[in-house]
Amino acid sequence: MEYPKIKVDLNKVEHNVRTIVNLCRKYDIEVAGVTKVFCGDPRIAQAYVDGGVSYLADSRIENLKRLGDFSLPKMLLRLPMLSQVKQVVKYADISLNSEIDTIRALSKEAKAINRRHKIILMVDLGDLREGYYYEEEIFSALEEVMSLSGVELFGIGTNLTCYGGVIPEESNLRKLAEIAKAIEEKHEVSMEVVSGGNSSNIHMLSEGKWVSRINNLRLGESLVLGQETAYGRRIDNTHDDAFKLEVEVIEVKEKPSVPTGKIGRDAFGRVPAFTDKGIRKRIICGVGKQDVEADSLISMDDNLTILGGSSDHLILDGTDSDIDYEVGDSIEFKLTYGGILGAMTSEYIKKDIFRNCRK
Ligand SMILES: *Cc1c(COP(=O)(O)O)cnc(C)c1O
Repeated sequence: MEYPKIKVDLNKVEHNVRTIVNLCRKYDIEVAGVTKVFCGDPRIAQAYVDGGVSYLADSRIENLKRLGDFSLPKMLLRLPMLSQVKQVVKYADISLNSEIDTIRALSKEAKAINRRHKIILMVDLGDLREGYYYEEEIFSALEEVMSLSGVELFGIGTNLTCYGGVIPEESNLRKLAEIAKAIEEKHEVSMEVVSGGNSSNIHMLSEGKWVSRINNLRLGESLVLGQETAYGRRIDNTHDDAFKLEVEVIEVKEKPSVPTGKIGRDAFGRVPAFTDKGIRKRIICGVGKQDVEADSLISMDDNLTILGGSSDHLILDGTDSDIDYEVGDSIEFKLTYGGILGAMTSEYIKKDIFRNCRK
């Protein structure tokens, strides 16, 4: 087997999805399964579908293109680029939007291929990433959206805990629900979707709180890692090791814990600091920052410490471990969301995507 490789257990992914879809269903919330962390790999997307998601969602059009064989509606999460509107109407059924110029262009391109592209207008509830911040702006955008024949108003949505770190609560989500209600009353329409946000909303469901009328969540991290992202808490009955990285040991040596000589900058321009722990057993593995950051790996051996890394090397301290690591051995790590993103994106990391034998 070749290393480094990322191992993806599809049974565990599907289990996480089913658990969270069922939790959401209690509150009449449909789940858009966010596939960007695994670059829209169709095998993993299939586990999302088997677990019961209602939409497939990704921030990049290239990834949605890979998902073309799925019949579920596809949602583009990042605001469309004007230069990409042709591909957007071709590969996405729905997109999140906050710029009327872009929506006009989407309408024109959709008409050209006889489609109606669905628009979710984004409302900024204070996190200061995308969306209309002032209500009067959203109402004037809305009128124009409804007058364009190549697009249809599919709903409104918001995104919190992304830039500003604002946590979704009943107070800010209620504002979204009120805007939805006001739109529906004023225009005598009924919107399909009121999308409350991402994995940072799950903490509310775990606490038995929700705001009615909000009927959609766009979930990535919670599905792949079984973790909500407002407070970083585990979600009951989920796995945190559906994605694991396995790397190969290429050097094991006893060495001092402090470098010898005058300390300048490391390979990335930072001045490193060290504590003297005497002579230690240092292990080097063949994976580096070009693939994943050392701090996005989680050691599964409690006595094996991650010291750091450079572009192509990961350095570990194995002195206190019960395992006698040797050259040629492989070591498994759990990953943070950023680690999964890096490992799935890196061309240098092999992808071992498997299903255990029949249940
Ligand atoms: C990435 C993304 C999500 C999913 O976020 P998670 O925290 O992974 O659940 C939801 N909405 C938008 C707009 C995104 O870009």
